[in-house]
Amino acid sequence: IQNKYVVGNWKMNGVGAHLEEVRAIAGGAARYRGVDVALCLPATLIHRAADVVPGFPVGAQDVHFEPHGAHTGCLGAAMLVDAGAVLTIVGHSERRERERSAEVRAKAEAAQAAGLDVIVCVGESLEAHEAGATIETVCRLANKSLPEQVGPTRLTLSYEPVWAIGSGSTPSPKEIGWVAGALRDLVDKRFGGQGAGVRILYGGSVNGSNAAEIFAVPNVDGALVGGASLRAIDFLPIVAAAA
Ligand code: 13P
Repeated sequence: IQNKYVVGNWKMNGVGAHLEEVRAIAGGAARYRGVDVALCLPATLIHRAADVVPGFPVGAQDVHFEPHGAHTGCLGAAMLVDAGAVLTIVGHSERRERERSAEVRAKAEAAQAAGLDVIVCVGESLEAHEAGATIETVCRLANKSLPEQVGPTRLTLSYEPVWAIGSGSTPSPKEIGWVAGALRDLVDKRFGGQGAGVRILYGGSVNGSNAAEIFAVPNVDGALVGGASLRAIDFLPIVAAAA
């Protein structure tokens, strides 16, 4: 059985003054056993955070699928590694507005090749949810977005319903369980025995009050947390619920 995995996604939030929160989160997380914790920060903070909390996993929120080149404003995986990142998110729904799954998959593979752990996000829109097409949508996105192989770094899949992100509403534990179960089957089928090493997270309005209930759902191995990851006082109770 693997440790639960609780990852904060700061999105477009945080300047140098917030490194104190990074320090508080890393220090607080170190007190819990049996849970892995990481923070995906804005690129401008990765290097500084890696200096402030050596050994604590900091990551990026996106990566380009090519290692370098004429891509103004983009960052390659080796550049993120150079800055101190050990993981990256790919395919977050806030980026999928402009990205297709084939690109997400290429990003995941580029990140793996550079030695980054990868979190691949999938989730259904409100329309798909209301049409009863959740599992079909999520499995289609996962099939197209997952990299060819589990290794050589750690691969994680995160289920994030688009309508649950930042909205304060979440699917019921039962619904999360249906999706997590379907994704577990998909991963096992696709990767065989190696699929067991792929953790499945839930993301979307996770907070200190609902985390324990979500972590109790079968096949849910942790959470990807947005708003509630910005401050230690909000994030550490979620870590505690996973420990
Ligand atoms: P919230 O936790 O703010 O709903 O965001 C979830 C998310 O998008 C994490 O990647």
